[in-house]
Amino acid sequence: MAASSADPAQSYAAVVARIARAAQAAGRASADVCLVAVSKQQPWEAIAPVLAAGQRVFGENRVQEAQARWAERRAQVGTGGLALHLIGPLQSNKAADAVAFFDVIETLDREKLARVLADEVQAQGRSPRLYVQVNTGEEPQKAGVVPGEADAFIAAVRATYGLEPEGLMCIPPVDEPPGPHFALLAKIAARNGLSRLSMGMSDDFETAIRFGATSVRVGSAVFGARA
Ligand SMILES: *Cc1c(COP(=O)(O)O)cnc(C)c1O
Repeated sequence: MAASSADPAQSYAAVVARIARAAQAAGRASADVCLVAVSKQQPWEAIAPVLAAGQRVFGENRVQEAQARWAERRAQVGTGGLALHLIGPLQSNKAADAVAFFDVIETLDREKLARVLADEVQAQGRSPRLYVQVNTGEEPQKAGVVPGEADAFIAAVRATYGLEPEGLMCIPPVDEPPGPHFALLAKIAARNGLSRLSMGMSDDFETAIRFGATSVRVGSAVFGARA
């Protein structure tokens, strides 16, 4: 974990280097692991140096907070642009805003949301990439489909709602070793023909890369502790 006093540009460079080393150790190309820099609840002073260093993929967990932080800045970034990921739970009544704003929505986890997202994709002619969130630890307080319902849910997302998810996302329980959860997510993805895995945060992204993560969502190790 990075201290909040650390220089974000340095912490960012360190995380990028750790991702590259972890990928190499796993016999993978570092370009195959995308860093989603989780900027939620961070002051702009922490984010600006990371943006200036070239990071373009950011994760946010609330629609309105993301709009407030990024709407104008996204236009200023210009060519190449930003890729903004929604990594927090999405309420159906915010789905229209989310489809309009995000490039990737990582938290598709129920049929009602699939229906509303499908309607908005139709209405807006804009298709954010989608991940299905799986609650690998079956924690009652956590969003995500439980593993035993994941195959049926993915099938319904495809067949009933005409959406094609790109991959799966999970947040393992804080008090358990993450490896088995990452392995389970990879297994569910493979048997459903999904090639992308969003897994791993500040404390466990190297483990996630070992288990096949194609994107890691890292906040505090890049930007410092959240307020
Ligand atoms: C906050 C958050 C992260 C980043 O957490 P860190 O421990 O700060 O890296 C990653 N994924 C999700 C879903 C989050 O809500």
